[in-house]
Amino acid sequence: MDKVINIAIDGPAGAGKSTIAKKLAEKLGYIYIDTGALYRAVALFRIENKLDDVKELINKLPECKIELGFENNVQQVYLNNKNVSSEIRQNHVSMKASETSAIPEVRQFLFDLQKKTASENNVIMDGRDIGTVVLPDADVKIYLTASPKERALRRYRELQGKPDCPTFEKLLEEIIQRDKNDMNRPVAPLKKAFDAIEIDSTNISLDETIEKIYQIILDKTKKRG
Ligand code: C5P
Repeated sequence: MDKVINIAIDGPAGAGKSTIAKKLAEKLGYIYIDTGALYRAVALFRIENKLDDVKELINKLPECKIELGFENNVQQVYLNNKNVSSEIRQNHVSMKASETSAIPEVRQFLFDLQKKTASENNVIMDGRDIGTVVLPDADVKIYLTASPKERALRRYRELQGKPDCPTFEKLLEEIIQRDKNDMNRPVAPLKKAFDAIEIDSTNISLDETIEKIYQIILDKTKKRG
């Protein structure tokens, strides 16, 4: 295979990264990797095994087997051979994932899987530290943001009707808390890579955002190709 193309999309919770990255991957024929799902899977493992204590969790990590699969190009996450792709989207798993992702041993544990997948495939990978830590040499780096209110509103629409849907106010509070956790942790905090292109999607539609990033990707990969 020729040199693979790696695209990194980072940004805070609810900025639309996954929806956008999924669509872009479809358009480009790349694999979409949602790295948040990996942290969510570790959080689920932690919840299921009542591993509140960080040391206990670290000791048990060798028993936490996480694998990625693809069905019609849609990422599936397996935790100890069980497909947990839906379960990890529950709202209470989000907060646990944010807390758990600050543990350096957890980040290291998931690093190899992310790195290996990106070295073997053309990927669009979204997360918090993709452009800064996981794929510092990515061909294209995007930092996608939107105001906290807009992000909470988008999450609210997504979760509405689901069993553990919180109120809008609670979601806003959680988004602000998650931003704070993710931006201030000592290891691999959420921040814009120096060479990332920042896009604020607060006042632009989903389709416009996708088109904008698509053009950036075409432009950058053409120049390098
Ligand atoms: O993207 P998503 O909201 O599913 O991510 C869940 C949590 O996983 C985030 O709040 C963040 O703490 C963590 N995460 C991370 N690094 C990544 C992706 C997600 O720390 N690359």
